[in-house]
Amino acid sequence: MSQNNLTEEDYLRKHLEKMEKTKPTPEPLAKQKDNSRTTDLQYQAFDCSLFPCGMFYPNGATIQVRPALVKEIQAYSMVDDNNFPDIIDKMNDMLMACVRVKYSDGSMGSYLDVKEQDRIYLLFLIRDLTFQQGMYLTVNKTCACKNEVQIELKPANFVYFKINPKLEKFWDDYNKCFSLEYRGQEFSLTMPNIGLQKSFTEYITEEVGQKKDPNLSFLKIMPFLLGNRNNMDTKEIKEELKNFQSLSMDAFQFLNSAITHMKFGIESLRKVCSVCGKEIHTEMTFPNGASGIFVIHDAFERYFEE
Ligand SMILES: [Zn+2]
Repeated sequence: MSQNNLTEEDYLRKHLEKMEKTKPTPEPLAKQKDNSRTTDLQYQAFDCSLFPCGMFYPNGATIQVRPALVKEIQAYSMVDDNNFPDIIDKMNDMLMACVRVKYSDGSMGSYLDVKEQDRIYLLFLIRDLTFQQGMYLTVNKTCACKNEVQIELKPANFVYFKINPKLEKFWDDYNKCFSLEYRGQEFSLTMPNIGLQKSFTEYITEEVGQKKDPNLSFLKIMPFLLGNRNNMDTKEIKEELKNFQSLSMDAFQFLNSAITHMKFGIESLRKVCSVCGKEIHTEMTFPNGASGIFVIHDAFERYFEE
């Protein structure tokens, strides 16, 4: 599947579809008893500005990443490739285990502070730290010169969405958001944190559990307007829903259109053809599904080929 090409609406739709079909998932293994230790030495610091949503983090922040332990990969390996919420949950569990944020004043944050659209990038960083060199996932693409090019899924080959120039002029670098004024109303748009996404997922689960239809337009737009929050309870979300429903028609149309420009994350894969020297692009997909990021599907065959 090609998760990165899903729009927020697709995500919500899939989420709602799946929720009706799936039972609550058991507590992930990674959250159970922790019987192995990791030390600070295993963490590698990456400058936030390198990430697809780099511009949205405070200046000087780093994201610290460590390799995954076997028990974490075991927990991830149980991911249901056909169940979108389960994929997001398992990915989040992996980030919870292996990722932390360090701010320039020395304070620490967790994966909940990470921008949602940086999740995939971070998973590939964890993967690179975990597996030996050369164990890349690859996508094949035939170049115009007929050469079959293998494109490795690694950060160096990732192409990010470029910032929309119409939006760029509203960038407020101090607050790390786009500040838009519409007929006297101020709106600050930023990319939602994973923590906020989790709060919204809980809210949706509650609504559906009570046989209510969540307001999809609210769920699509509101996370971009909630600044850097990484946690909200249902009561606060319902309060925001009231505000959202009291927007004027014009303000709603303006916001609905503005957020279509909030495209950040990994757009595609890129590699230079070794025969003709041209750059080849292909869409970001996961060979062997989302589980394939940490599960070596042909490990059995590989062993006997060596
Ligand atoms: Zn070529």
